[in-house]
Amino acid sequence: MDNTNPATGEIISLIPISDALDVDMAVRSARQAAQSWKSSSGELRFRILSRIADLIDRDIEALALAETNDTGKPLHVSRSVDIPRAASNFRFFATAAMQFSSESHWMPGKAINYTLRQPIGIVACISPWNLPLYLFSWKIAPALAAGNCVISKPSELSPTTAMMLGKICTEAGLPSGVLNIILGDGPTTGQAIIDHEDISAISFTGGTKTGAHIATQAAPRFKKLSLELGGKNPCIIFEDCDYELTLREVQRLSFSNQGQICLCGSRILIQESIYNKFRDDLVSRIQALRIGDPLIAETQIGSVISSAHAEKVMSYISLAQQEGGKILCGGSRYQVEGRCSNGNFIRPTILENLGPNCRTNMEEIFGPVISLQVFKDEEEALQLANASRYGLASTVWTSDLQKAHRMAEKLNTGIVWINCWLLRDLRTPFGGMNDSGVGREGGWEAMKFFTEAKNVCIKTERNS
Ligand code: NDP
Repeated sequence: MDNTNPATGEIISLIPISDALDVDMAVRSARQAAQSWKSSSGELRFRILSRIADLIDRDIEALALAETNDTGKPLHVSRSVDIPRAASNFRFFATAAMQFSSESHWMPGKAINYTLRQPIGIVACISPWNLPLYLFSWKIAPALAAGNCVISKPSELSPTTAMMLGKICTEAGLPSGVLNIILGDGPTTGQAIIDHEDISAISFTGGTKTGAHIATQAAPRFKKLSLELGGKNPCIIFEDCDYELTLREVQRLSFSNQGQICLCGSRILIQESIYNKFRDDLVSRIQALRIGDPLIAETQIGSVISSAHAEKVMSYISLAQQEGGKILCGGSRYQVEGRCSNGNFIRPTILENLGPNCRTNMEEIFGPVISLQVFKDEEEALQLANASRYGLASTVWTSDLQKAHRMAEKLNTGIVWINCWLLRDLRTPFGGMNDSGVGREGGWEAMKFFTEAKNVCIKTERNS
């Protein structure tokens, strides 16, 4: 399969479409490694995962360039966000391998229970293309830290850094068979992974439709599932917000990574009294963003992931117009001269005039497109924010702390950011509700997902 640089249209490598036989070979290799990895000490896992993090740091330039060539995102973003976070993921879960502990429940005068949290065995980690190494490592690191062997697949659209990580893991001393990275597409390779009888848990991040498909396949076989899926995240801006901060952050939360982050805000809800001013100021800022070659340091908006995805995003912009939406800025492709003349660039687009229930405001576009809506008061803001089947993340912008708490309590999202966005503490539960998924990642949540809890109850009294 061709691996194309979406910013230039150039084919940069060929990747295999691995099939069920390849997956089975990987599982056999994992099976051979499983017993010794499962019984390895937390200290050994800590040392190897920390070393992987160090080697990611060492290779940051090569990894960042590979990430940018695969995805079209600005190089400075790969260098400052994607790759450092991949290193942090390994470093964070390295310490988890040392700190993870079990609980005990005492029944005075009767018994004591303790919970063994044992590795599951062989688990699958399947990740998307938008934050390739960042999300790949976010799954693999806790799975390994908890003592599992892993069968993993990056997206066919962004395979390079995963392969580089494989080499890094070998250099770091990860035993053979513990991590098996398989390249290929979803329908062939991904499907073979989820179908394999010896894989008992699947951690998946990707689209809601794929997540639903995986759930139907995994449920009858009682595989453990963690699904991190799409979003249509509301951003709620009150008149009492810190205006300049909010303006700056709304730009970031809307268009970072060309809007291709599951946590990006796409429904921007603005209180009536500041609507016109905020809209106009936002439009001026967004029109000034520099679109272009991802390798140029000044570029703020790179290419979207592929020509097919660019078409999808453009089709939503047409749909928005059919639904009565007004384009305030953007709304068209952007032609970059020179090396990137065959790239997939889209002008950051702001829409208004669309009701909460139209498709543009209901469906995930996953591109540089946001839609503004106006609200009167807290109650209406909540109604609009919760008018979605998705429930991943929301942001609230206000200087009224009590209001912020009230909103946080009532928003139907797994994550609420108040006066900030993408401020991440890796210990916190991460994930969404409703169509945004099932289960949580991060911290102990991930360690618990990748282990099976076994309660051991010991009677302490002879005659009771
Ligand atoms: P997809 O669902 O298309 O793909 C995700 C992964 O699943 C890819 O590796 C893909 O392989 C693989 N896959 C596809 N079909 C199957 C199958 N039948 N069996 C097993 N694996 C399969 O999502 P995208 O890659 O397009 O990613 C974008 C989506 O991910 C957006 O909806 C976004 O919101 C969501 N996302 C959610 C996050 C969260 O934390 N909640 C974080 C980041 C993104 P291949 O690509 O090779 O076909």
